[in-house]
Amino acid sequence: MTGEDVDLLSVAHNLNNIQQKISQACQTGGRDPEDVTVIGVTKYASTERTIEAVEAGITNIGENRLEGLTEKYNAIEHEVNWHFIGNLQSRKARDVVGKVAAIHSLDRRSLAKEINKRADKPVDCFVQVNVSGESTKQGLPPEETSHFIEQLADYEKIRVVGLMTMAPHIKDEDLLRQYFRTLAELKVQIENEQWDHAPCHYLSMGMSNDYEIAIEEGATHIRIGTELVGPPENNESR
Ligand SMILES: *Cc1c(COP(=O)(O)O)cnc(C)c1O
Repeated sequence: MTGEDVDLLSVAHNLNNIQQKISQACQTGGRDPEDVTVIGVTKYASTERTIEAVEAGITNIGENRLEGLTEKYNAIEHEVNWHFIGNLQSRKARDVVGKVAAIHSLDRRSLAKEINKRADKPVDCFVQVNVSGESTKQGLPPEETSHFIEQLADYEKIRVVGLMTMAPHIKDEDLLRQYFRTLAELKVQIENEQWDHAPCHYLSMGMSNDYEIAIEEGATHIRIGTELVGPPENNESR
């Protein structure tokens, strides 16, 4: 589906389509749809369009910048779980920790230290992994992830609930599947360590382009922007 097709449609309509594709992927992958949380990514959408998403049934919202998070957090009165999914500058950690259900982009010790300092209770974090090795992507190399997570035991307010990745924007399904599988295997490896601070049961992977494959490979949290609220260019004037 192209961007123009989706934008004209209501979020409820888009969500309905997405839910059908999720059930399909769950069937193919032998997964329970109850185990897949849809995070509506509203970084390109207006507050009005975001409210439309919430009224359509979205209860988890993802933003990748503090400004977008704050604007919507202040304007939206519905019960929503907020997720911070973008690169987080350490100095902005203070403004994010009190608002969100989870931070999906923990990728360095200095950020963990800052979150730990600013939080009054444990913060659910996903550690971001760069499975494709693309230099433009944030995240730790897979081979450094386990050691990094082990070291996070130093920070009592960091709770590693899972791993997160952004796959490259490509069409090659086999390669995408391989990236998601790498993250899923890494998750099991870390889960098996049974570290108190890192239960690591979740996988935040899959976006508009690739979420069906991600679900088949075990995603528990998919992050959908374009297919839910429309593409960036059509949201600019909102
Ligand atoms: C923008 C964004 C998404 C959503 O991307 P779409 O392709 O629009 O679905 C998901 N995750 C992160 C980290 C993002 O920045």
